[in-house]
Amino acid sequence: MDDFAADPSHPRYESLLKRHLLENAAERGMLAGSALIAHGRGEAYDYLIGEKTIESAMIASKYALSKLKNTSRAVISVNGNTAALAGVDLMKLASLLRCPIEVNIFYRTPERMSVLLKHLEAIKQEYDLDVEILGATPDARIPGLEGPRAKCCHAGIFSSDVILVPLEDGDRCEALVAMGKTVIVVDLNPLSRSAKMGSITIVDEITRVAKNLVTMFGNNEEVLQFDNSENLRNTLNYINESLTEMSNSID
Ligand code: ATP
Ligand code: MG
Repeated sequence: MDDFAADPSHPRYESLLKRHLLENAAERGMLAGSALIAHGRGEAYDYLIGEKTIESAMIASKYALSKLKNTSRAVISVNGNTAALAGVDLMKLASLLRCPIEVNIFYRTPERMSVLLKHLEAIKQEYDLDVEILGATPDARIPGLEGPRAKCCHAGIFSSDVILVPLEDGDRCEALVAMGKTVIVVDLNPLSRSAKMGSITIVDEITRVAKNLVTMFGNNEEVLQFDNSENLRNTLNYINESLTEMSNSID
């Protein structure tokens, strides 16, 4: 972070900081070639929700947290972008939930897996967290997927009943839902296949979501009623209304 020069008063400070974290992660070999493109797609959608946690995202986050807290078989799955942007808070969340965190990437190479595992291990040491980090030795497969994309750990993703899987590809999200899991998706694009397939879809930026989940952990607020389709519709309506407002404000 030493070479990050942007001033916190810069109106796009948060956005610049995230880009910088990803640039660093790319240099360290944590990301696949398409990772920055995926981030750009997310940024575009973040504009549409005003780069903040909107009400529907908060409702989905609270419900997701209830589900994660009320099971003994939760798991958090992280890919390169997620580890780079929200690794610290997701490790803290795993520690609070006493659940494992599993590195699971779309384009699996031994090198990338190793850097990501080391990144999480360093966070574990720095914050003195008691978290099991999985992913190094996959010993199970997600049914319905071909090739290395199907690999996962039996003690983690495979045996979980509630899985928090931010920035996941639609195809894999669908396969996890087909396994009967409660799949918590974090995706800024409310129109993506993941967003539509997920059991609980949080349309929000992963850094904000991870922070919110850690902050809300001690609240013990239970959300009993939740309808994902309705919540997604509310998200799209929010975007629709704010676009109309913006359009009206242009003279
Ligand atoms: P799908 O496969 O679900 O149809 P996709 O192929 O468009 O989606 P992927 O590349 O598979 O997208 O996954 C990346 C998704 O993550 C994108 O939908 C993007 O909007 C979202 N995304 C990127 N960065 C962030 C972020 N920081 N926080 C939340 N979501 C993000
Ligand atoms: Mg995809």
